[in-house]
Formats: sequence, C-alpha cells, structure tokens
Amino acid sequence: MNRSKYMILGGGMVAGYAAKGLVEGGLKSGELTILSADNALPYERPPLSKSFLAGKDDEKSIRINAEEFYGEHGIEVRLDCHVARIDARQKTAHLQSGENLSFENLIVATGAQPRTLSIPGSNLSEIYYLRSMEDSKKIRTRARNAKRGAVVGGGFISMEVSAVLAQGGIETTMLMREDRIWKRFFTPAMSKFFESYYSARGVRLIKETNLTQLNGERAVKSVSLEGGQAVECDMLVAGIGVSPVTEPVANSGMQLADGILVNEYLETNVPGIHAAGDVASYQDALFGKRRRVEHWDNAVSQGQHCARALLGDRAAFLHVPYFFSDVFDLSYEFWGDPANADQTVERGDLSTSSFSVWWLRNKRVIAAFVMSRPDEERDAAAKWIESKQQISAEKLKGKSSVLDAEEPAS
Ligand SMILES: Cc1cc2nc3c(=O)[nH]c(=O)nc-3n(C[C@H](O)[C@H](O)[C@H](O)COP(=O)(O)OP(=O)(O)OC[C@H]3O[C@@H](n4cnc5c(N)ncnc54)[C@H](O)[C@@H]3O)c2cc1C
Repeated sequence: MNRSKYMILGGGMVAGYAAKGLVEGGLKSGELTILSADNALPYERPPLSKSFLAGKDDEKSIRINAEEFYGEHGIEVRLDCHVARIDARQKTAHLQSGENLSFENLIVATGAQPRTLSIPGSNLSEIYYLRSMEDSKKIRTRARNAKRGAVVGGGFISMEVSAVLAQGGIETTMLMREDRIWKRFFTPAMSKFFESYYSARGVRLIKETNLTQLNGERAVKSVSLEGGQAVECDMLVAGIGVSPVTEPVANSGMQLADGILVNEYLETNVPGIHAAGDVASYQDALFGKRRRVEHWDNAVSQGQHCARALLGDRAAFLHVPYFFSDVFDLSYEFWGDPANADQTVERGDLSTSSFSVWWLRNKRVIAAFVMSRPDEERDAAAKWIESKQQISAEKLKGKSSVLDAEEPAS
C-alpha cells in the first residue's frame, strides 16, 4: 500500500489553498495526495451562487490553481473518489471502491452539505440545492427557461440565488420562516434596507412562513404554505443551511461535536490529523470561544495555516472571522462576531447602499459590516477587532473619519 506523506480528505477550498501553501513551502513531488468526491479540481465556491450561476464565469476561471499546477508539482488528485472511512489508528483511508490508502499526515476538509427539505413532494424534479459546481450548472441550465422561481430560506445563499434569478428575468419569490431577511446576522435596520432593495428589484418576499407541501406530477409546480396560500413556480432552490460532513470520520476516534473538534492549532485529538474549513469546530483564541465557520476566508486561511503546520510551523490560528457577499450591484463585507454586543453604531445612510454597522461590547468593536464606504472603514474593522481597540461610540457615530473614534489605551 502506497503511503502519502501528506493527504487531504476533500478536494474543495481548503484543499486548493493548502496545496498552494505546501508548494510555496517546498513540497516535493509525490508527497501530497488529495481525495475528492467532487468531479472537478478544487474551485472557488462563492461564484457558484453569483457570477458562475449568472453565466459570467466558467469552470476554468473559478479554479483555485490552474490544471497544470497539480501535475507540475507531482500532486496526485483523485476525483470522484469517495472516502468511506478513516482509520485514524492505522492512518488509512478506506475508499468506497474498496481500495485503501495510507498517510503520515492528514487534513480532513470534507466541508458541509446542504440540509434538504423533508415535506411531501420533496422528491419532485426541479427542486435544487446548491453546493457543488454541478449543482450550480443544473440551476443555471434550468433558469434559462424558467418563468417563476421559488427560493426557500432567508440567509445569504437564498439572497444571492434570488438576486441572480431576478436579474435573469425570472419572477422570484423568497420564502422564509423568519420575520425578516437574514435575521441571524442583520440588525432590523439592515434587514429593512435589503428587503426594500429586493422588493424594488421585483423579488417578492413572503416572511414568517412554513412550507407544508410541494405540488406537481413530476416536476414542482407550486409550493403550499401554512395557512393555505400557494406560490406557483417552475423551479425551486432551497438554501436552508448546511451540516458538516463527518461521516467518513465517525467512529475513527476523532472527537466530534457539530463538526470535528480541533484545538487552536487546528489539530484534532489524533496526532498527525488536522481538520479545517466548514467541517472544523475550532477553539477561537481571539474571542475565547469555540466556533465553526462556513465561509470562504476561513477555508482559505485555515487551508494555508494547515499547510504551514504540516511543514513544521506550529502556531495558533488567530484570525478575525470574515465574510463577504455580492447581491445585485451591491458588495458587502463583514468581520467579527456580533454575539453578546451591548451597542450598535451606524455610519452612513441606511436608506442608501452606503453604510456601515459596528457592534460594540464594553466599548470595544467586536463586529463590523461595511458596504460602499471609504477604505479606512474596511481597514479599521479587522484591525480594531483583533487589537480589541477601545472606541468612542459617540465619535464613531459623529466624526467624518472613523479613525477619530479611537480612544487612547486605558
Ligand atoms: C454556493 C456557495 C456560495 C458561497 N458564497 C460565499 C460567499 O459569498 N462568501 C463567503 O465567505 N463564503 C461563501 N461560501 C462558503 C465557502 O465557499 C465555504 O465556506 C468553503 O467552500 C468551505 O471550504 P471547505 O474546503 O471546508 O469545503 P468545500 O469547499 O465544500 O470542500 C469539501 C470537499 O470535500 C469533499 N468530500 C466530502 N465528503 C467526502 C468524502 N467522503 N470523500 C471524499 N471527498 C469528500 C467534497 O466533494 C469537496 O470537494 C459559499 C458556499 C457555497 C456553497
């Protein structure tokens, strides 16, 4: 049985950036094997609900590394390769095909999988979930001839998909359980802004609703809602959250709890095995709490961090959580963690698309949302959160430069 010095389980974003990091750190030919259930080389996932879905990007343009990269550096990438089980003690990956591959060091980066609907009619055709490039291609193809689209969920995937469908001329209805858009993260004023923005662009929002049934003979034709209302559609996309993919490491001896538990070094409890990206629940030393992050920057940074760790540079992963999204002609960014905030401060004008929102706790910034604002606001956000900078809320609100809000260290 061949033994890989380094193996990555999962061929997604962590894998793409970890491979790049290993090469930059001096990886030798033949040392790395990537096992991926995907049928494409590691690619960026954010475009799947934005430019790729809209037909502005293609398979090649969203690759993390060029096709030749893997061959040139002697990296073996096995696509359509499903790992059934990891034996952590024997350091062996058991493939669904029956083949076994052994490793010295492993990064588990299996990501997350979409939650699915489980109401009557959920098995009809023209019901879509979005995780892979294949999923995005299917939605894109269907959208070319669709007239009415229903999008279930009130979070970022639903917001992005709804924007693309509406821009493609599809009569789009967003259906959400909550009483306002992306309630988990937006303040009420932010939800209000985005709801108006969507309504003005033809997206119908039905809030505080539950789906009871999907109707149609073969393909979905309408959605029944609690209370008896029905929404007609000829395609439906559900963006109702994801769950971490831990099946291949169940019973492996690795500690699991909402993902794979890792310490602040991204190490599992099994020596030689790291976990990173959407599947990893890590100890966040900056905020002093455990978290699992399902965002692009986390996958990129943790992939790079694991690469350095495998090459001998063991360090704690100290990183301000970050997220970005693009909807219609808007782009926004978000840093930090607003949980436990005791104050929020708005800058700019929430009736226009140029504003920022700052979450404070004990007079220190713990999270920030920035959209179409001067660069100094972007720059200050991550820096202040990381350094636990003391801030004057009054100055943050009132001064024309955000930098005037800094208070001297106490
Ligand atoms: C449509 C979409 C849009 C997004 N947009 C944004 C955005 O705008 N901003 C943002 O910050 N984040 C965004 N994200 C989130 C971001 O893309 C993810 O956080 C990131 O992809 C996580 O990387 P990962 O490597 O952990 O998992 P993934 O990229 O999902 O990779 C997991 C890999 O593991 C493989 N795998 C799983 N099980 C097995 C197995 N048993 N055997 C072999 N291989 C296996 C999969 O095939 C896949 O290759 C988006 C995600 C999606 C799906």
